[in-house]
Amino acid sequence: MKKKSTILLVDDSKENINILLSLLNKYDVIVALSGEKALKMVQKHKVDIILLDIVMPHMDGYEVCKILKSNEKSKEIPILFITANTDGASIEKAFNVGGNDYISKPFKSVEIIARIKMHLKLSETLDRLEYMAMRDFLTGIYNRRKFFEVGEKVFAQSTQLYAIMIDIDRFKKVNDTYGHPFGDQVIQKVVKVLENIVSDDTILGRMGGEEFAILCRVLSADKLETITEKMRSSVAKLNLNYKDEKVKVTISIGIAQKDSQKYTNDTLDMLLCKADEALYKAKERGRDRVCMNM
Ligand SMILES: [Mg+2]
Repeated sequence: MKKKSTILLVDDSKENINILLSLLNKYDVIVALSGEKALKMVQKHKVDIILLDIVMPHMDGYEVCKILKSNEKSKEIPILFITANTDGASIEKAFNVGGNDYISKPFKSVEIIARIKMHLKLSETLDRLEYMAMRDFLTGIYNRRKFFEVGEKVFAQSTQLYAIMIDIDRFKKVNDTYGHPFGDQVIQKVVKVLENIVSDDTILGRMGGEEFAILCRVLSADKLETITEKMRSSVAKLNLNYKDEKVKVTISIGIAQKDSQKYTNDTLDMLLCKADEALYKAKERGRDRVCMNM
């Protein structure tokens, strides 16, 4: 069953809160009686939509909205103002501070429910589109575009950084011999192996076809060698079967290190190229191995 959406209700009037609570009984509703409390609750709970009163003591709804919309964690949450201030200037301000919609008091219950449903649907759709735009459809890891988007930031911030390029050996032959559906399964299984080995702050992306890239911030070349060797051997040990036939799949791995002293003008692209050269070497030397470009 689909999980109920969570609504955060922000209003300084308990009377208003009670009316809205009875109206929104199909949702999970959490309540904040002030702007300050609302900001704290958004940090603690996963909130899908916010109904926000404008006139409140200390911090008014506009201020709350501005803060929420400037915060990475809360900026995508739709905010619906509910207020008796229906003059043009108030409405304009509500949208200017980032509000997504405006409902005037006294409100009609059908209207509130309809607007909530519409905004929940809209934000779900946007989430899904965003996910699709940045993920590889087959494996769920970052696609090339997202890998570079996230990778450029990490590259700029890290002095100790390694790029790893990975390629499934003779993959074309796998596809030609066993068909694309089996080839797709191989890719998924290889990615599972990689995901299980890398740590959470590692960036992993599918660069295209059977090629994957990793950016990782391990502290020593030794540790890196252990990790990549584990990737290589785990893939070689994978139990892959096509009908009754055992299929052996291997990967080649190329590594390059960002050298912040020598190459101050290095880019992520250049680092990946260096890793690619190492990968090429690994292929030349017979595949199923790890090569470093230092
Ligand atoms: Mg009020």
